[in-house]
Amino acid sequence: MKAIFKKAVPVLAKLEQAGFEAYFVGGSVRDTLLGREVADIDIATSAFPEEVKQIFMRTFDTGIEHGTVSVLEAGEIYEITTFRTEGTYADFRRPDEVVFIRSLEKDLERRDFTMNAIAMGLDGRFIDPFGGQQDMANKQIRAVGKAWERFHEDALRMMRGVRFVSQLDFSLEKDTYEAMQQNIALLKNIAVERIAVEFVKLMKGQAVNVALPLVQKLEMLHYLPGFEGQSVAIQRLESWDLAAASDDETIWFVVVLAVMPENVGAFLRAWKLPNKLIREVIKAYDLANKRVWSDYELFATGSHTVALVEKARLVQTGETEWTALHERLAALPVQSRSEIQAGGNDIMAWVDKKGGPWLKELLARLDQAIIEGEVANTQSEIKGWVKHVINESP
Ligand code: ATP
Ligand code: MG
Repeated sequence: MKAIFKKAVPVLAKLEQAGFEAYFVGGSVRDTLLGREVADIDIATSAFPEEVKQIFMRTFDTGIEHGTVSVLEAGEIYEITTFRTEGTYADFRRPDEVVFIRSLEKDLERRDFTMNAIAMGLDGRFIDPFGGQQDMANKQIRAVGKAWERFHEDALRMMRGVRFVSQLDFSLEKDTYEAMQQNIALLKNIAVERIAVEFVKLMKGQAVNVALPLVQKLEMLHYLPGFEGQSVAIQRLESWDLAAASDDETIWFVVVLAVMPENVGAFLRAWKLPNKLIREVIKAYDLANKRVWSDYELFATGSHTVALVEKARLVQTGETEWTALHERLAALPVQSRSEIQAGGNDIMAWVDKKGGPWLKELLARLDQAIIEGEVANTQSEIKGWVKHVINESP
């Protein structure tokens, strides 16, 4: 058993000692069987949430309505979810109600793909009622039960299926694939935030060049905001070295460079992305679209954005070395405002004047003077410069 599971053994043991069943489930079991890195583990139990809360000293009701209780054990937080079935699905997404149950098998039955429906017990034994290990050996992604029904219950599963193709370099089993072809339009019922999570994972996958053609073939583009009719953007993405894009900001920036939307902000907002990410990508897009950058522009944009532009360039060109832009920024006397040896307070004291628009203007001029080497970045040099400038102005 891998260390990450061993560490969690006391959690399962406590549940068992209290007379309940407890297992590792979901992505962690799948990934360990595939020899992939396991990031976080999920625990499923026959204990109901209230019972879980009685067994552990420190608990948090993070997702209690879905049966998930977080517990603090040996300095780690673990999510423990009660076995459950899902009630009727009225609208092709998330169930209307969850029903807590005591049967592991029934819990595994509600899961999306056979490889995700395997449990691992404390003894290291696998409970694999739908042949997930066999499917993994065949590199196949197969829906648990009738694919058609499963995608009607929750259309996001289709998006998840394609993202697993990308992450694992597996293929979709025939019935599963055909059910996707028939039901892809149900994706319109899915919240864009959930689609975005899967889309980013897809973009980061090792087999993204297999998954992207699949996105086209399954006609998923209609359900990706701003991608309608954008086959050409998908082809651009396919031709780039996406393996070099590993963080979300770079992914979205690269997506924007492929789609070239008229309004970048509107495109990203349609995906309901965090405002900070949207701001960063817009900045990078503006910078990338300029043919020449003055030193001052580089400085004012900042190293984070310059790095983003550089990363995207590597993705687009397949090159591996950062170039001029980055070096030019590094060669400037200062890389950020915080390194400048005098600030607004110093200046107000030197010239004995209250702050105001003049100060903001002067600080901007000072930035520029330092960047262009007109003034050295020391208190005394800056002081001299400030006095000189103030005396000259009317
Ligand atoms: P990752 O490694 O990206 O976390 P994961 O398979 O663990 O992948 P999660 O979203 O963490 O994905 O879900 C954990 C488990 O819950 C899955 O392995 C699967 O068994 C089940 N699951 C998640 N989403 C769905 C869904 N939409 N329908 C059915 N089962 C799901
Ligand atoms: Mg997971």
